[in-house]
Amino acid sequence: MACEVICSAFHATPKYSSNNPARSRIRVIRDPIADIYVPVYAGEYAVAECAGRDKYIIDGKEYDECAFCRASCPSRDVFKEPDSGLPLKCDMCESDPPQEKPLCVQWCLNEALIYEVREEEKENEEKLEELEIGLESLANKYGLHKITDIVTRMSVSKKG
Ligand code: SF4
Ligand code: SF4
Repeated sequence: MACEVICSAFHATPKYSSNNPARSRIRVIRDPIADIYVPVYAGEYAVAECAGRDKYIIDGKEYDECAFCRASCPSRDVFKEPDSGLPLKCDMCESDPPQEKPLCVQWCLNEALIYEVREEEKENEEKLEELEIGLESLANKYGLHKITDIVTRMSVSKKG
């Protein structure tokens, strides 16, 4: 698939010197007989398989219990560097200058992949920035030690 090819080429050393979908940080889980194609991009490393996995049925199609999982996990060979076995993780095509859109999205001619920035994430980031500015000004006014003492006292009283 085009997304797997471009992702692996982008992450080759040097960039674009080779491509091998087994090194891609996005994998399309395929079952052509059941007409199942699920694009999943690589997330965190999992030390062990998880328990209590379920099968999923969506629109009458049954999906494997790990089909939507983004983990590099001992239960399967997905999202592992084929030579070293090291876990692979999507880095949103980090580059300088940054890409306008992730490359897998740009290369997907069927528009199966959509890139969007969620407002709620931006809002949360802005709120955290405001909080940081507020804390900094309090620390400047009263001293960092005093603020740390108050926060410690508050967290102790919340626990109690
Ligand atoms: S691939 Fe994901 S869902 Fe499946 S066992 Fe590993 S962590 Fe659990
Ligand atoms: S966003 Fe970039 S790094 Fe992540 S899966 Fe797509 S091509 Fe690979």
